[in-house]
Amino acid sequence: MLRIFFLFIVYFFSNPTIFFGNEIKSLDVIEIAEGVYVHYGKHENFYEKENNIGDIANLGFIIGDDSIAVIDTGGSHQVGESLKLAIKKVSKKPIKYVINTHGHQDHIFGNSAFLSEGVTIYGHYSLKKFLKERGSQYIRQIAQAGDKVKGTSLIFPHKVIAETSPDQVKKLSNEMTIDLGNRKLLLTSHATAHTYSDATVLDLKTKTFFVGDLVQDERTPTMDGLVKNWIKVLNEIEKIDFKIMVPGHGKIQKDNTALEKTKTYLQVLYDDVIDGLKKDIPAEKVIETAAQSEKDKWVLFDRVNPGNVVRTFMRYEWEY
Ligand SMILES: [Zn+2]
Repeated sequence: MLRIFFLFIVYFFSNPTIFFGNEIKSLDVIEIAEGVYVHYGKHENFYEKENNIGDIANLGFIIGDDSIAVIDTGGSHQVGESLKLAIKKVSKKPIKYVINTHGHQDHIFGNSAFLSEGVTIYGHYSLKKFLKERGSQYIRQIAQAGDKVKGTSLIFPHKVIAETSPDQVKKLSNEMTIDLGNRKLLLTSHATAHTYSDATVLDLKTKTFFVGDLVQDERTPTMDGLVKNWIKVLNEIEKIDFKIMVPGHGKIQKDNTALEKTKTYLQVLYDDVIDGLKKDIPAEKVIETAAQSEKDKWVLFDRVNPGNVVRTFMRYEWEY
């Protein structure tokens, strides 16, 4: 058990951190639908390369008649500033909203760059709790990363998706819309899946669907929630009528190919771990073998999969 715990710590908290300072450059963005822009993050280990300031997640923004909403802000204040520059090159309209698709560093640490715009930050009804739990770990990592990410701080969401009871945990509804001016976005908080803070954004005008890390293409999914629930949430999302899906990592999608690929990985991960538990196979062996049949389909598999196996193993250890 101690060994499992140790592995868990190693895999879960290993986000090394070295890079150097330089000036802010505008991020590359592409228009994927009318008024909808995406920046593709790099498939690198978080903060590991010398020049990586935490630019690994897909980021987006949507322009309405009156205002702009940003979807995820990147892995540091600097990525957020670079995204802000890119937005201002495209439009001079006010940036009024930031929506975080979940609480992982690569999606939220650029929030601070948008505070000067007077934005309202929206997140899952449990995002604040999630960030509070992860806070000291995140702050330590970003501090170790040095000057290049100086000024990065943890910014909690200002508003929850959607209305909650006064304790801010019990949801009354899990959907809400915001209006950018002749353009409504449907924001949805989901049950625990990839994390316990997953939210999606659907632009009702172009049916562009930002799904965060609930769906991944290319980069191996990180299982930081509940694998069985995640599959259930994907079964729900699959029914939604969209034209373009923007996964948290990897290329934009015209259909459910990446969703199915993510689901298959999760099912194989679950089946292999449960099989190991039923056969009483030692944990270290399960870590070596579970989901290996999926290896060739994904980038950074050897880096991400072992942690997924450990977390899944620990979750179901006493049930089989
Ligand atoms: Zn991510």
